[in-house]
Amino acid sequence: MKHAIIKSAIVIGVTGHLIDVEVDVGEGLPGFSIVGLPDTAVGEARDRVKAAVRNSGLVWPNRKVTVSLSPAGLPKSGAGIDLAIAVAVLTATSQLKIEDFKNFAILGELGLDGAVKEVRGALPAAIAAAESLGNFLTAENCAAQCTLVENLNVVPVSSLKELVAIFKGQVKPRSVQVKSQAKVKQGSDMSEVAGHVTAKWGLECAAAGGHHVAMVGPPGVGKTLLAERFTGILPPLSKTQALNVSAIRSSAGLLNDEYALDLTPPFVAPHHTATHVAVIGGGYKSAATVGLITQAHNGVLFLDEAPEFSRNVLESLRQPLESGRVVIARANFVSQMPASFQLVIASNLCPCGPTVGQKCNCSMQAKIRYLNKLSGPLMDRVDIRLRLYVPTQAEIAIEMHEVESSQVIAERVLLARERMKQRFKDQDFDVNARMTPKSLRTDFRLNESGEVLQDSLRRGIISIRGADRVARLAWTASDLRGHDRPTKEDVLAALSLRDAEGKWAA
Ligand SMILES: [Zn+2]
Repeated sequence: MKHAIIKSAIVIGVTGHLIDVEVDVGEGLPGFSIVGLPDTAVGEARDRVKAAVRNSGLVWPNRKVTVSLSPAGLPKSGAGIDLAIAVAVLTATSQLKIEDFKNFAILGELGLDGAVKEVRGALPAAIAAAESLGNFLTAENCAAQCTLVENLNVVPVSSLKELVAIFKGQVKPRSVQVKSQAKVKQGSDMSEVAGHVTAKWGLECAAAGGHHVAMVGPPGVGKTLLAERFTGILPPLSKTQALNVSAIRSSAGLLNDEYALDLTPPFVAPHHTATHVAVIGGGYKSAATVGLITQAHNGVLFLDEAPEFSRNVLESLRQPLESGRVVIARANFVSQMPASFQLVIASNLCPCGPTVGQKCNCSMQAKIRYLNKLSGPLMDRVDIRLRLYVPTQAEIAIEMHEVESSQVIAERVLLARERMKQRFKDQDFDVNARMTPKSLRTDFRLNESGEVLQDSLRRGIISIRGADRVARLAWTASDLRGHDRPTKEDVLAALSLRDAEGKWAA
């Protein structure tokens, strides 16, 4: 046999794609060429594969070796195709049998000594392999994460030598350690934060209704403490969502191999000096950087000191907030990555950010300019705006009697989500935060309770757009309290969650 096709996989963005690695060993001057849109790392495979084959005691053909990667339109990047090229050459030269690899996708980087090394994005590649092949051969260092995929036989190898021995029947393939059961990680608890009854209620509403939330207050008041505990009151991820989150982490090279399926929603908190590419993703290579907003997919993006972020970064959040994905256009292709996250914003009241007890020296103009960085299209999407005050001793003392754990809050949130699921089963949205303006005026119109809202509108306390937001929040308050429709009290509670509007700069 002079010709062979082996399946391998590449990752574009955070999605795995199967590719064909076709090898022809022909007449002509000895040489080795790779065609089909390879990047530099793939091009360097020539040197690695040749050395690895020879150093594993196998024969490299003294012929003209041509490798073609297809579909040719997809950009191939990274060193993960090495192992598939080696196997293709070995089958084309009858050192291995091609039929043994019929239902396999092969992924791994080769060392010059023939060692098989782990590759970024093994999990999304494994997901692609499970869909149409069912067998996945990869480096032992990334085999365990691939066992998260159902209906996939994972074969780990540590070297090319071991691979050949397995397929010649000389040794048995090692079994991969099956990881422990999927679970939610226990994080810090809401009960550890004293006071802040209103802010906690606001976060409970945000968790239940899927609303974006902003917290404004002096430094050290507890904004970060509260934000860090927010994922603890969110509903756990479904298995599919969790697998997607893990695939994203695998693409970003963040998945270690001691791993069980993690049902905790991700919490991503970029520093305000983070660059546009780091936050949004992209970069100039075909192996696009996985942005922090994609790492926050199905979870929470927390922007602490939000006005300190570059305007460019803040503006770029608009598109993902609207569509739940980020589109990165390149010269030769367009890459899409998921980025559906819940936004939690925290901000000081002014640029100097005096700690409690200190005096602020900022001019009124500086203060307005500071918070104005958050205004406009971004804040338009933030339903809940909370103003945080330093809790008094009395407040802390009262609350200590009935302080609630994250679990108690999470149970109410889950019940509220159930109500939404029932109510929205014929709609194309699933949480209150995504109710359309039309649905708020038809199917989910507020009845008598809406008068409170009309009154606020007439008195100019809220805008028309603000009224829609209050209506959505009223539904969330009603779901959390177990009402069928929002009552007057629910609308008033919703209005209180918009309390900071217009007062931030004061
Ligand atoms: Zn100041």
